[in-house]
Amino acid sequence: MKSFDLIVIGSGSGLEVSSEAADRGLSVAVVEHGPFGGTCLNRGCIPSKMLIHSADVMETIRRAELFGIKAQVSAVDWDFIVKRVIDTVDADAQAVEEGNRQHPHVTVFKGTGRFVEHKVLEVDGERITAETIVIAAGTRPRIPDIDGLTDVPFLTSDEALRLPKQPRRLIIVGGGYIAAELAHFFGALGTEVTIVHRGPRMLRQEDDDVAARFTEVYQRRFTLLLNTVVRRAQRNGEDIVLEVASDGQKRTLSADALLLAVGRVPNTDLLDVAKTGIVLDERGFIKTNEHLETDVPGIWALGDIVGRYLLKHSANLEAAYVAHNILNPENKVVVDYQAMPHAIFASPQVASVGLTERQAREQDLPYSVGTYDYYNSAYGFSIDDKDGFVKALAHRETGEILGCHIIGSEASILIQEVTNAMRMRLTTEAITQSIYVHPALPEVVQRAFGSLRQ
Ligand SMILES: Cc1cc2nc3c(=O)[nH]c(=O)nc-3n(C[C@H](O)[C@H](O)[C@H](O)COP(=O)(O)OP(=O)(O)OC[C@H]3O[C@@H](n4cnc5c(N)ncnc54)[C@H](O)[C@@H]3O)c2cc1C
Repeated sequence: MKSFDLIVIGSGSGLEVSSEAADRGLSVAVVEHGPFGGTCLNRGCIPSKMLIHSADVMETIRRAELFGIKAQVSAVDWDFIVKRVIDTVDADAQAVEEGNRQHPHVTVFKGTGRFVEHKVLEVDGERITAETIVIAAGTRPRIPDIDGLTDVPFLTSDEALRLPKQPRRLIIVGGGYIAAELAHFFGALGTEVTIVHRGPRMLRQEDDDVAARFTEVYQRRFTLLLNTVVRRAQRNGEDIVLEVASDGQKRTLSADALLLAVGRVPNTDLLDVAKTGIVLDERGFIKTNEHLETDVPGIWALGDIVGRYLLKHSANLEAAYVAHNILNPENKVVVDYQAMPHAIFASPQVASVGLTERQAREQDLPYSVGTYDYYNSAYGFSIDDKDGFVKALAHRETGEILGCHIIGSEASILIQEVTNAMRMRLTTEAITQSIYVHPALPEVVQRAFGSLRQ
């Protein structure tokens, strides 16, 4: 059995730890059964945002007439759009793998790692061990239990980002951010999209006002079936037929592709973590302490598999802490998650940081709310954004920024300044007393904070 100083399972954010340790001369094993770079590079953030940019370009052309430009799209070159993505991410993944293989202190094990004993992993029949192990094995799409699904070809986000042919009619099951982003991508490029969602609103994790506005917009853009469950899936020739039910009423939907976007499950089952004594939470994610160490001393976990925030920047943040805590055992630091932002690259975009109004209410905090519509700001009016708004939440007594929720153009960029202020634990004055470029879009953020009611 080969022994290492450190084993890292998963080549997404786990590589932040392995490369730092290897650069310091520790012997490191990296275990990965897929392409290097993990979900974000191969099946997540990067390919989805590259594809969505094509959708955004299309939308700009479609709206051009509002601004006096008469433009027409003569064709959508699907092959080009998808190939641009595949070529980029596959080349990156290859380069990352090569970089690891060439590192003098890294040994790559290409295969599925599985615990067979305490701190012993088996990969492709080979056993390896280390005193220190980092589990960064991520999540995968959840496949819902739908009658007949095994007889029907379906997609998850893994395949949807690499489709050789554009579907003419697509049914998306789900109402979270992946469903929202992919509906925008396919829909903007001309696919007829039907979204089937069991909840009353899209994006239920968002602030209620943002989720409600987003749902309204998606009701205008797509066929959106809310409070609707899928009862059965079957084939009818080339068609996929779904039997859905809402309020006891049955209905049949047909499409040439079906995309399931109903959440993610942790890869802890593949790893058989029970063999090494690690404790899981009730959803199957790995339990860790405030330093990201598991219940087994020397075994650490980070990223999606710990189930705190399923976001790449959270996984990277955690990786930096794990690397520090492993390499500085006398000086461990507690992970500071303060002001974890996120963005949804749909149309409209959504971005958020901190508490939603519901969370502030549930925590019994004395809070005030300020909201400002894009359309009432000079830039929001210029770009004709009639749906966008910013909602700010602050502590009524201390002025601490509690949260900010944005729906509308460039929300993913606008949220950053609020995140920075919150991360530095500044009060609303950091925004209200600053000087904003006129008439740039961030004025809408300042006005939302300026309108906070006492
Ligand atoms: C469609 C989509 C869009 C997304 N968009 C965004 C976004 O815009 N912004 C954002 O912040 N986040 C986004 N995410 C989430 C982001 O991709 C993840 O939060 C992030 O990649 C998690 O990193 P990780 O290192 O924890 O896990 P991963 O990147 O999933 O890495 C885990 C690795 O472990 C490997 N592995 C698993 N089990 C084993 C095993 N037993 N043996 C060997 N190898 C194993 C896997 O192959 C994988 O490479 C998106 C996700 C999806 C699916």
